[in-house]
Amino acid sequence: MKSTLKRTWAEIDLDALDYNYQTIRSHIGPNTKFLGVVKADAYGHGSVQIASRLQDLGADYLAVSSIDEAMELRFNGITMPILILGHTPKEQVDRLICFNITQAVTCKAKADEYNQEALKYGGTLKVHIKVDTGMSRLGYLCNDEHFDTGVEGIVEACQWPGLQAEGIFTHFAMADEDNPVGREYTHAQFALFQKVIQAVESKWGQRFAIHHCANTGATVDYPETYLDMVRPGLLLYGYGAYAKKWHLKPLMTMKTTVSTIKVYDPGTHVSYGGIYTTDKKTRMGVIPYGYADGFLRSLSNRCQLMSEDGPVQQRGRICMDMAMIDLTDKWHVDVGSEIEIFGPHQSLDDWAALAGTIPYEIVCAISKRVPRYYY
Ligand code: PLP
Repeated sequence: MKSTLKRTWAEIDLDALDYNYQTIRSHIGPNTKFLGVVKADAYGHGSVQIASRLQDLGADYLAVSSIDEAMELRFNGITMPILILGHTPKEQVDRLICFNITQAVTCKAKADEYNQEALKYGGTLKVHIKVDTGMSRLGYLCNDEHFDTGVEGIVEACQWPGLQAEGIFTHFAMADEDNPVGREYTHAQFALFQKVIQAVESKWGQRFAIHHCANTGATVDYPETYLDMVRPGLLLYGYGAYAKKWHLKPLMTMKTTVSTIKVYDPGTHVSYGGIYTTDKKTRMGVIPYGYADGFLRSLSNRCQLMSEDGPVQQRGRICMDMAMIDLTDKWHVDVGSEIEIFGPHQSLDDWAALAGTIPYEIVCAISKRVPRYYY
């Protein structure tokens, strides 16, 4: 097929998003809220478009990683609750309050700062308290040694007048490790989380409106961890082993076009460094897809893309803006022909496995200059 869209682009199937959302909903049941993780530009899919669709579908919450990501959504018509999972400088507390954005609170010092700033501003900041139950990243440390101080710190934050403690959450480190160590670790994290909630709520004398912890792995494999809300990211976009387990649909197809074709004699070095040399008369195409678009350079000379005449080998080093593909004997493929990078014929999961990475990294690496088309 000849492309009229010219360069390299991503097609995003919003019907697949509807399908995945409804399927996840049918698994979690009507009493569990749904938070869609749309940080990192909705894992490269375009946060405004994905969030708008989730809002229309009736999702309960969204999560992003920064205030800039949250503001982009607010400025584009997203009125539903948004939780910032990452750090927000205290100087931005007035904006959080003004735009009704919920902030994760991860330690006593931050709770203190946010409380003071909220009082200075004359408002109340909605917060979700994050508990570190074993991810060893953000959150109130509540292991055996720090249990009492952790719980006291959380109770204190709940009582501060500048904060409205709406939720409490934790993050699993190994819910997607399908082995005995992963399962034991996840069960231990969940048990600790429940113990912390119980201790905090009995001291505080109130219940948090929303308890949540289930990411993709836990949403599929640990239904006992749903509590009030699940918090999947990758699952929603339809990639990885868990999406496969629930027969979800991948949202994205990446495509490029052939921009030039030349025929080289045997013995011709192709691209930087001469890591590929033709061994026969070779019809070589150039595609406008390079590492500045998200084509991982580590895949140089060892991946294939899909043409209408079947698989084509990528040859030589992947450059910043382009790469070469071997079109010998692919006689239907001409200048302007579409080439699938990943999609129905070659999954993103296979592409990620070939690159020795995870689907998360591949979609997040697709750069801004790659247009996303929605249908
Ligand atoms: N919750 C938190 C705190 C996260 O950091 C992430 C992703 O990194 C998620 C949920 C979603 O994870 P996943 O995409 O594996 O569902």
